[in-house]
Amino acid sequence: MSDLEALLDEALAAVSRASNVADVENLRIQQLGKKGAMTGLLKTLGQLPEAERPAAGAEINRAKKKLEGALQNRKRALEQIEAEAAAAANAIDVTLPARGVAQGSLHPVSIVLDRIEQFFHSVGFDSVRGPEIEDDYHNFEALNLPEHHPARAMHDTFYVTDSLLLRTHTSPVQVRTMESRKPPFRIICPGKTYRVDPPDPSHLPMFHQVEGLMIDEQCSFADLKGIITEFLQVFFEREDLMVRFRPSYFPFTEPSAEVDVQCVHCLGAGCRVCSNTGWLEVMGSGMVHPRVLEMSGIDSERFLGFAFGMGPERLAMLRYGVSDMRHFVDSDVRFLEQFR
Ligand SMILES: [Zn+2]
Repeated sequence: MSDLEALLDEALAAVSRASNVADVENLRIQQLGKKGAMTGLLKTLGQLPEAERPAAGAEINRAKKKLEGALQNRKRALEQIEAEAAAAANAIDVTLPARGVAQGSLHPVSIVLDRIEQFFHSVGFDSVRGPEIEDDYHNFEALNLPEHHPARAMHDTFYVTDSLLLRTHTSPVQVRTMESRKPPFRIICPGKTYRVDPPDPSHLPMFHQVEGLMIDEQCSFADLKGIITEFLQVFFEREDLMVRFRPSYFPFTEPSAEVDVQCVHCLGAGCRVCSNTGWLEVMGSGMVHPRVLEMSGIDSERFLGFAFGMGPERLAMLRYGVSDMRHFVDSDVRFLEQFR
């Protein structure tokens, strides 16, 4: 029994020294576990004379209960301390200054699209949008692009099925408008277009286009030149910007012209951007081919039309001095935040 008192005192002292919940648990196992010291004492009861066993058993159980109570109290006290320490560690210091919120910005291509739409809306054009998955007829055939035309070759076009494809230009929106609206009308068709082009500094497999179409009884190449010249001078913010129309060929317009502006970097003197020509090609244009009008059910004897098409990525590169088209899709915040 003197062993018991000594054991209990020692165990209680150890409990009061325990500095964390894990220590308390270890002590419980040392004393009261299957192989614990206190449990060991109970096992020695059998060695005592039979008459002494009940009293000794009661003593050991009393000591065991006392130790159990001490362990539980210490555990609860330590849990409370640990919870308070954790709460203090996670406390929010309301006096700290707030973290800065990064301000987003419009994507440069969106800015250019907005500016193009703003100009053309101001001169009476509506924006019209159409499907990005098109059928062969609207993307090619209705635009005077017969079956053997090189632009129809597989290497240019993403085919979805044999007859459906990702539109290679926004012109099918013009076809759909000519089919559904009665002239006169003026529309622009902004949107995404797709071609099988591996990304490089001047190509992306997905890029934007804005095409325009005006159809009226009185509509001439002079109107086309006037509107396009005005647009380019407004877009590049230079009233005296020189614009020239160079004869060209497109299957859906006749006559057709490429539109060049005086190089906005060297002002015509010749530099790397314009390959020392002093001019930059920015647009295709022309008078709508009578066959294209007829295919969409418009009387080509009565109505005339002009059409034009431009690439917002190219315009953004020239306007903002971007040297690589891939910057537009890299999602690099350091590039994008320059347009804030
Ligand atoms: Zn130049």
